[in-house]
Amino acid sequence: MRAPLELKTTLNLPKTDFSMKANLPQNEPKWLERWEKMGIYGKIRAARKGSPTYVLHDGPPYANGAIHEGHALNKSLKDFVVKSKTMAGFDSPYVPGWDCHGLPIEIKVDESLGRKKLEMSPLDVRKKCREYAQKYLDIQREQFKRIGVFGRFDEPYSTMSPQYESVIVRTLFDFMEKGAVYKGLRPVYWCIFDKTALAEAEIEYGPHTSPSVWVKYRMTSDPGAVDPALAGKRVNTIIWTTTPWTLPASMAVAFHPKLEYVALEHAGEVYIVADALAKATVEKCNLTGAVEVARFAGSKLEHTTFAHPFLERKILGVLAEYVTTDQGTGAVHTAPSHGEDDFYTGAKYHLDQTCNVDESGRLRNGLPEYDGKRVFEANASIIELLKSRNVLMASEKIEHSYPHCWRCHNPVIFRATEQWFISMEARVEDSTLRQRSLDEIKKVRWIPAWGEERISNMIATRPDWCISRQRVWGVPIAVFFCEVCGKLLESSEAYKSVVDLFAREGADSWYKHEAHDILPPGTKCPGCGEARFRKEMDIIDVWFESGSSHAAVLGHEPNLPWPADLYLEGGDQYRGWFHSSLLCAVGTRGRAPYRSVATNGWTLDPQGRATSKSLGNGIDPVDIAKRLGGEIVRLWVASVDFQEDVRVSEELMQRVAENYRKIRNTFRFILGNLREFDPQMHSVPFADMLPLDQYMLLRTKEMSERVQKWYENFEFHRIYHQVNDFCTVDLSAVYFDVLKDRLYTAAPNSQARRSAQTAAWRIGEALVRLMAPIMTFTAEEVWSFLPRVANRQESVHLAHFPKPEDITGKVADPIEAQTLHADFDVLMAVRDEALKALEVARRDKLIGSALEAIVTVHVPENIYKILERYRHDLRFLLIASGVVVKHASEGNGSTPMRVEVTKAPGAKCERCWNYSLEVGKNERYPTVCERCTAALNEIEREQIA
Ligand SMILES: [Zn+2]
Ligand SMILES: [Zn+2]
Ligand SMILES: [Zn+2]
Repeated sequence: MRAPLELKTTLNLPKTDFSMKANLPQNEPKWLERWEKMGIYGKIRAARKGSPTYVLHDGPPYANGAIHEGHALNKSLKDFVVKSKTMAGFDSPYVPGWDCHGLPIEIKVDESLGRKKLEMSPLDVRKKCREYAQKYLDIQREQFKRIGVFGRFDEPYSTMSPQYESVIVRTLFDFMEKGAVYKGLRPVYWCIFDKTALAEAEIEYGPHTSPSVWVKYRMTSDPGAVDPALAGKRVNTIIWTTTPWTLPASMAVAFHPKLEYVALEHAGEVYIVADALAKATVEKCNLTGAVEVARFAGSKLEHTTFAHPFLERKILGVLAEYVTTDQGTGAVHTAPSHGEDDFYTGAKYHLDQTCNVDESGRLRNGLPEYDGKRVFEANASIIELLKSRNVLMASEKIEHSYPHCWRCHNPVIFRATEQWFISMEARVEDSTLRQRSLDEIKKVRWIPAWGEERISNMIATRPDWCISRQRVWGVPIAVFFCEVCGKLLESSEAYKSVVDLFAREGADSWYKHEAHDILPPGTKCPGCGEARFRKEMDIIDVWFESGSSHAAVLGHEPNLPWPADLYLEGGDQYRGWFHSSLLCAVGTRGRAPYRSVATNGWTLDPQGRATSKSLGNGIDPVDIAKRLGGEIVRLWVASVDFQEDVRVSEELMQRVAENYRKIRNTFRFILGNLREFDPQMHSVPFADMLPLDQYMLLRTKEMSERVQKWYENFEFHRIYHQVNDFCTVDLSAVYFDVLKDRLYTAAPNSQARRSAQTAAWRIGEALVRLMAPIMTFTAEEVWSFLPRVANRQESVHLAHFPKPEDITGKVADPIEAQTLHADFDVLMAVRDEALKALEVARRDKLIGSALEAIVTVHVPENIYKILERYRHDLRFLLIASGVVVKHASEGNGSTPMRVEVTKAPGAKCERCWNYSLEVGKNERYPTVCERCTAALNEIEREQIA
């Protein structure tokens, strides 16, 4: 006869090489290497080839620095979308892009070149800019990969590639051929430091202190014509302005036609101001005691004339509806070259629109007192001049909200320049660019929904789109003018030659070749017949460039159809990329380039301030990846409701890392108990599993369905919290705690243990897939440890989300499963009550551990019936040595359930630690209980066999 087994060798303790400590900073780069080697992105494409497509079109980040937390947030979200769509079965390619042209890079290069730039050709400067952009494109590409983003990184799109540059000019020419582009003199926002026009989207408002002056304009036409009471008097009006430097450009004074004006006499002079502002003006201008001598509508003042306060110029009285009574005097100084409203009024009254402020903001062609001075310095000189001419009625300083340049943060001015525009009223099919865009907005799904109103308001009220910039680093507005008559050459052959040239040589070619080398031979001016042309050297607004990305990237490959399913960017893109993409697509194709648009919020520090480089209050995602893991950055992204503004801090990252460890331990428990489990040989059909295992699989199935729904709705934070709860509470604290006894002490091949293993395996298989889009690295690691089954993909990222039958198998009797589920919901509630009582007993030192206890539960009839059904499962569920169920009728009425804890009789089994009266009865194994005896016998039988 063989010797009895050594007890501790008979326990099936968990064992796995899946380590407790993740070592993410060391291990993630190894996974990246492995994915690179296997060509994971290409394999996913091949695996999903021919499936329905889902295209998230990437908004290009600007290639001028390392990535920050905002990039990490946005790119991780995109990666969640792409990976979850892939696992849901879609072919979901992701082509990352970069925005490479534009002012910030040109300025950086300017700074590094210094005076050298003056001797350099535009081509050499462009070369430097290109190197700069490429450097940061490469850096960002590696950083995005480092945090686990999958995509076509070896073939991204970049706005400075020849193919893309040719698409930009093609898009521009499409607009031209539709007659939507015009060149015109217009006041535009102008930065005198960057010497360029700025788009609406490039303006930020901030406080600025300006002089505030009241200036007397003497009426030179007959005042008696306005009102007989004024005949023969010295009549003036008073204008108010906060930009004295615009006074040399003053051409008119605007009055509201319907407002009531009053004429106030004071010290032998009469002043005309709006009635509503008369009191304030009298106070400011020290006209106390002034007497009203007449009252009339503003319309009476049209075509009156005034003397310019210091120039020999006739100033016209004009009417305008935009005159308000919020502040000032109701008489508005009008400088058509320095204001949008002024400009239109000037056009209506045929006023001179010449701009005498040069590109660096210096006043030209003026009086010696201010000529050559920059606008903001000229203010003081002009105020002095007004004083000396005795026309300054009052002067003070005010702080007000004023437009600033988003690049250099200096105050900007309005300046009339020759610019290229896209007209918002251009024809698009049977509508206009503006109206058609508004119509298209309604067909798009906006996430969150308020995005629709936000962008609609912007489109509804925006002025024509100024698309020209006077810089070098960009794509030229590649059109030709006749050298002789100056006419714009509008010819599709010319357009085509440019598009082809750019596709071959890139936009640099515009700076390399002469006009006649680019144009088809024999091109003649349709105006004068001459064949000499000059090239336009303005470049195009970068928003037009990125707005053309849909045309550059989509519609050329079968799995990248146009339009995109989703654009997903920060909320600032309503006025940026969402906006320009919409106009570019509607203007050229009549349709929006996207079916849905989602936005993520800002990243805030714990104090609620927006994170920024200058405040230094953000986190560096690459640093977090190096210290804690890229996975932790991803989990942080999943943990926040991205549609709101989100908090970010080192502490939050640490907290996320703590949760990561819990999820990891859940996987570790599963893997540790599957070491010899072969699903083909050992898995137990659902119908034959133990009820608790069936219940947990049903719960897992529900969780899986919820999670997949949330992926569909981009509610990643719900997934994060659900999976966290499921792992820490449902699994670790409850189910696995109960399973330990069965997994460790039952005979290895017993039905009870195989049932538990089957459940653990199916839960693991489901969880790893459900979390793979978020926990890109760890899911792959877990995948490599899970038992092999036939036809299993080599990477979790090639797999699909679990279907219900992957989790429960075929449920033969759904009604039975439903009953079981309901029963266990009750059992779990009973368990909670019992655990409370056990805790009290432990505290009272009645017992040490629950296994030393017998639990008696008094329950009402309906529950009694359920507990009866699971009589044999109860003690395991409560992890006690015995459970007795009694009717509650004799209980104390108020609580439907009562629990008693008593000390278990018998002795402690050396092997499973349960208490039993049977310990000591078996001769061969005198220290163990009847369950362990049976298990040991079974183990011995198997060893003999
Ligand atoms: Zn600027
Ligand atoms: Zn000509
Ligand atoms: Zn035992």
